[in-house]
Amino acid sequence: MRIAIIGAGFGGMAAAYDLKNAGHDVTIFESASYVGGLASGFKEPHWDWAVEKFYHHWFQTDNEMLGLIKELGWEDNVLFPRPLTVMYHKGKFYPFDSIIRALLFPGLGFGLDKIRFGFVGLYLRLTNNWRALEKVTANAWMMKWAGKNVYEKMWKPLLIGKFGPFYRDVNMAWMWARIKARTTRLGTFEGGFQRFADLFAERLGKMGVEIRLGVGVESIKRELGQLLIRGGGESQPFDKVLVTTSPNLMAKLTPDLPENYLKGLLELKSMGAVVMILSLKQQLSNEGYYWFNLPKEEGYPFLALVEHTNFVSKEHFGGDRIVYAGDYLEVGHEYFSLSDEKLLERFIPAFKKFNPAFERDWVKKVWVFKTNYAQPVPLLDHSKNIPAIQTPIEGLYFASMSQVYPWDRGTNFAVEIGRRAARMMK
Ligand SMILES: Cc1cc2nc3c(=O)[nH]c(=O)nc-3n(C[C@H](O)[C@H](O)[C@H](O)COP(=O)(O)OP(=O)(O)OC[C@H]3O[C@@H](n4cnc5c(N)ncnc54)[C@H](O)[C@@H]3O)c2cc1C
Repeated sequence: MRIAIIGAGFGGMAAAYDLKNAGHDVTIFESASYVGGLASGFKEPHWDWAVEKFYHHWFQTDNEMLGLIKELGWEDNVLFPRPLTVMYHKGKFYPFDSIIRALLFPGLGFGLDKIRFGFVGLYLRLTNNWRALEKVTANAWMMKWAGKNVYEKMWKPLLIGKFGPFYRDVNMAWMWARIKARTTRLGTFEGGFQRFADLFAERLGKMGVEIRLGVGVESIKRELGQLLIRGGGESQPFDKVLVTTSPNLMAKLTPDLPENYLKGLLELKSMGAVVMILSLKQQLSNEGYYWFNLPKEEGYPFLALVEHTNFVSKEHFGGDRIVYAGDYLEVGHEYFSLSDEKLLERFIPAFKKFNPAFERDWVKKVWVFKTNYAQPVPLLDHSKNIPAIQTPIEGLYFASMSQVYPWDRGTNFAVEIGRRAARMMK
């Protein structure tokens, strides 16, 4: 079969790998000039490693991703350092990456609240009944079972940070999946995620997969028993097509889809993301903290501060310290239209809260990355709203971050859904 895949992200490349191995003729169309999609990175001339445009790491439970890397023979390139994640409480940050540290965290006191926090965490780790949990909001469930205090201190800031105006509407299965599938050890690939993506693309090329970079697909139509892909100034026929873009883009590419499928795509909600990366002359966190969870009510202009070089060594970046300041936002939020300089003006005052000695002249260079499609928003009974991978148009398949539910989006689940789609297409 002649198969086209739209998108050379981790999902599209994983599908291409399986389809090519099964003997099909596979072409990937990628509108960007590079592979890797949302997990892609970039490199300055004096860096040996790439930095992800949006902070990325793997969990030890990311079996699909780690399994694929093993199949490809690159498991020795995966590193699992133990960086420090910290929580905010009354102007200070406390490590929060183990049971002992959670017990010592003063934000929840040392009485009943901490016990409830522990039991709720344990229950969510042990249960597999996410279908019952998607019938109730995380807001209501946590208030009831973890209690108001624990909810407001721990879970509400997380929900507000991720989902902004939708924070009360997100279902409890999302929170369950997050707690269930995460570990404190965090992993990366030697050279960064971009190096993995480049190696993977090179392997696919050697296997005979054609990767057409810089070709944005404009439409997909079924005509005379084939699927016609228009893009890059030409039309090409294929027997089967897999699209791995956002649901919105999918709807634009394939207006011939039946109305109820299109409506399903367009009704899915998601958040965008704006992430600033700074290279600094000096370390920002004197304590060597990697990930700062920040409560928005405390007036921070972003949700997370991540000092990447407290996770991987600064030696890979010519001694530069790499810091991310990022936020999940509704598309249309003013951060999407502010210039990089204006955004920096908004963010700079907050850096002193992480290190009072911080000065503007520590900043060597700034990059800002924005995406409209960063985080699907799962509402009540969300499993009923997931678009089928096999669309009503014969031969046309769709696999995106919005369909990996009940799991939260991530490269692990992009690989899983990409390979699942490939199995269906075979
Ligand atoms: C802020 C942020 C933080 C994240 N953190 C993590 C993390 O720590 N760990 C983790 O594992 N995951 C993380 N993720 C999620 C992860 O990046 C995604 O789940 C994964 O990369 C999705 O892969 P994909 O192949 O499904 O889609 P994508 O990576 O979005 O790939 C789709 C591809 O399609 C291309 N495309 C779009 N339109 C067209 C067109 N018309 N024609 C041709 N090509 C087109 C795009 O350019 C893109 O390359 C994060 C994401 C964000 C936004």
